[in-house]
Amino acid sequence: MATGKSPTCSVIYSQAPYWKNSRLIFPFLIDNWQHFYYIDFPPKFENTEKIYPSILIGIAMAEIYRLCEICTPQIVKVPWYSCLEWEIDWWNEDIYWYLQQKFYLEKWNWDKMPRIEFSSSYTENSSFPSVNDTYLLAVSGGKESTFAFEWMQQANLPIEAFTLHNAGGILGDKWLQKFPVFDYIKHQTYLWEIQAHPKEDPAEHFAYEGVRNDPTITNALFIMMIIAMQQGHRFLVLANDKSSNESNATYQGREVNHQSAKGAAYIERFNNFLKRKGLPFSYVSICEEVYSIGTVHQLSLWNKNILNELTSCNEAQWSPEDIRWCCNCPKCAFSYALIEAVTDSRFATQAVGKDLFNLTKLEDIWKRLFDANSEKPFECVGEKRETLMALVKCKKQRLKNGEPLGILAEIPDIEFDNSLLQISPPQNIPREHQEKLNSAK
Ligand SMILES: [Zn+2]
Repeated sequence: MATGKSPTCSVIYSQAPYWKNSRLIFPFLIDNWQHFYYIDFPPKFENTEKIYPSILIGIAMAEIYRLCEICTPQIVKVPWYSCLEWEIDWWNEDIYWYLQQKFYLEKWNWDKMPRIEFSSSYTENSSFPSVNDTYLLAVSGGKESTFAFEWMQQANLPIEAFTLHNAGGILGDKWLQKFPVFDYIKHQTYLWEIQAHPKEDPAEHFAYEGVRNDPTITNALFIMMIIAMQQGHRFLVLANDKSSNESNATYQGREVNHQSAKGAAYIERFNNFLKRKGLPFSYVSICEEVYSIGTVHQLSLWNKNILNELTSCNEAQWSPEDIRWCCNCPKCAFSYALIEAVTDSRFATQAVGKDLFNLTKLEDIWKRLFDANSEKPFECVGEKRETLMALVKCKKQRLKNGEPLGILAEIPDIEFDNSLLQISPPQNIPREHQEKLNSAK
């Protein structure tokens, strides 16, 4: 079977990570090409020498997955890390969760998945410090994590915020200004701003042309552990919404899902890993029982103007222009539909910049977002039924106001399902915190 356009290599080596002041450096060799991955910590982080290998390995593996997607090796060697047999199997399975999208889109056979080898002498025997029932919440500037922040604040849960900027180096610093909602967050709690960036872009070096599925979740979770260890937080919180469980396709007997590491199955798998390793943390998705449309709806009730501060487009982040919405991608389209559904067309148009139901170039994207027979875009967008329901609501509102329908003309006249707006806390946090969240909405 054809294996797409992307390049291959024989071996990717991970070399031992080290600190240089507050910069954590991971070196790699892709055959003979040297690559460095940098993570810069703020001055408030003090423990720059003592980081457990069990945590460092996760950050190294996330970068390995990214490199394997760009230039696929036959084998990955990690000689600085040793572990037991179950963990070797765990990592050799984990790589599937990220490379499944590439293997499907480029039609690779699953047996070409790179094999990962660690050092054979197992020595680690760590005991970890104890932690409290407090939260480190990852925020991205988008709708779900902004809702999560607001919800946890209103419930008065003990939280600090965390964000991973892919900035500096080759990526530039311009996009740091593209997340106005961070100012709002920083006024209310401490925001751990971590800058993670490559010294150069391996995708450019290897002329990779495929669609990327960067392993941000794994990377964020392990970097969050470094902060949580110092600050004594047990809960590593992401705001993955309920729809992340919906797959994009099935390929050679395996489901393919762009958002696989956000779904309930992966959360359980990751928490099993933490338990077996004796790491004192827990991966929580605060929005696992909430749809995206529910998060935007609740934000509109609490603080409608905050919808103007959201950044829910991955494309515009990299643009040198001063824009936050590219108005041309599935995420822009999906987010626009949610904002209009919970407000009105005038509000949505001024928040995003354009009326996205009346742009002809978006017709195909809209179809793929709601039509059961089209392939769902490989982006963090909602369930098809959720998008359809948002469009149903928008159509009703526009008909009532006598506004131009654009693509909404194709949407059937069915009833909106109000249960999509329900908000419930996750199961895997203390009961008293669940109660506080329940009374805050
Ligand atoms: Zn966009």
